[in-house]
This record gives sequence, C-alpha cells and structure tokens, in this order.
Amino acid sequence: MKMIDTHAHMDNIFYLRDQDKVINNAIEKGIEQIITIGINVESSKQSIQLAEKYPQIYASVGIHPQCVNQLLDESVLNEIEQFAKHPKVVAIGEAGLDHKYGQANDEFARRIFIGQIQIAKKRDLPIVVHSWLSHNEVIEILTKEGIPRSGGIIHCFDEDWETAKKYLSLGMYVSLSGICTYKENSFLLEVIEKIPIEKLLLETDSPYISPEPNRTKRNNPSRVLDVAKFVSEVRKEPFEYIKEKVTENARKIFKI
Ligand SMILES: [Zn+2]
Repeated sequence: MKMIDTHAHMDNIFYLRDQDKVINNAIEKGIEQIITIGINVESSKQSIQLAEKYPQIYASVGIHPQCVNQLLDESVLNEIEQFAKHPKVVAIGEAGLDHKYGQANDEFARRIFIGQIQIAKKRDLPIVVHSWLSHNEVIEILTKEGIPRSGGIIHCFDEDWETAKKYLSLGMYVSLSGICTYKENSFLLEVIEKIPIEKLLLETDSPYISPEPNRTKRNNPSRVLDVAKFVSEVRKEPFEYIKEKVTENARKIFKI
C-alpha cells in the first residue's frame, strides 16, 4: 500500500542541491503522490512548475501567514487566483494566522486569509490552513466565512482534543505531522486515539519537523510512513489499515 504526503514544501531552499534526488527517493520508498505547498507568489509558481515536471506531484497555491509581512497590498490574491486555474493545483494555501512567527499587522493578515478562503470557494478547491497560537481566531474566521464546499484541512495540528473537535464540527480534516511523535506533545495522543479515521490526514511538512527517530534531520516526504506507523501504534490499528484510510481521505479531498 502506497501513501500520499499531503503537505510538503519541495521548493524549499533546503532541497536546492538535491531536489530531484529527494523526490525520486520518496517515490521509490512508496510515496505515490506529494502535495507541494506554496507559501508566497514565487513559491506557488515553483510548486506549479514541480507539479508540471512530476506526474506524482500536485500543488497548493497561497500566502503563508509568515509571508504576509513581505506584501505591500492585497493584489497578490489576484495572482493566487490565476494560479488556482492550473489543472494540477488541488488546493489553496497554506493560509491562516500565526502569532508565533507571523504577521506584524493582524488586520491585514486576516484579510489575506479571508481572501484565500474566498478564492478556494470560487475555484471549488479545499483550503489548507496554518495556525500557530491562533486557533481561536482561525476557528472564528472559518465559522464566520464558512469552509469551501471542497472542504478544509487544519495542517500540522498542534492542539488538544477539545480544539480538534471544533475543527471537526466545521467539517474539516485534521492533519497530523511528525510533531505528534515528539515526547513533549503527548497531548496529541488523545487526538490520535479519538479522531474519526475518515477525518484524518497525514503529512510531513518537509523539510521541517522530521518525525522520531530522525527528529534532528532534514525531513522528506517518505517519512510520512513513520508518522503513519506511529499513529497505527497509538490507535492499535494495523499499519496497512491506517495507510489505506488516510490515502483514501487524501484522494477524496484533493480529488486526485
Ligand atoms: Zn507547511
């Protein structure tokens, strides 16, 4: 059973020297498809180029909240909307709010986030949401705006089960990454145990947050298998079953 890495940044500078090698290695190890996620206009463009080069790669296009400080105005949303018409673009994002390393101007960041939700609705694509220390605000915006008909994903989920339930009640998918294997994040074990399997996605967020036992190393899409292994152990369900279910979920939301 092959797997999909639903969230990686393959245009990242950490892959500058060996991007093709990393992608081909992941494919060889059983990663059937990779969703590469844009964080600004340039990175979204590069994500599309990768998707054109590799049949296994699909792109998400958007403006990451850590990139909003680089923007002069909201005109970038027009570019994202144009990119979204590309046949290999399967989602909008990552978009959201970030009170850790993110926006200097909250009001502007909210407008960029909401603008991307609107593009997702217009293009009938799911939205990939990033939230750091911002869950209340992000949930409030998603509740008010409504998630796109194609759905939404809270990526790299890093909060407790109570917060997860709020996203689930909005109809969103919860995506778990390598951080759920870290000792200090034991609060995520309850999320792993309780989340309905049909709402679970797995990702690497490569090149960051490599799962244990490779935590300190550069991450790559093949390590989504390690996240799946960990989830199968916590849920006491077979590895093959977890892989099959999360792959089914990924195919459904990204329509791939
Ligand atoms: Zn990301």
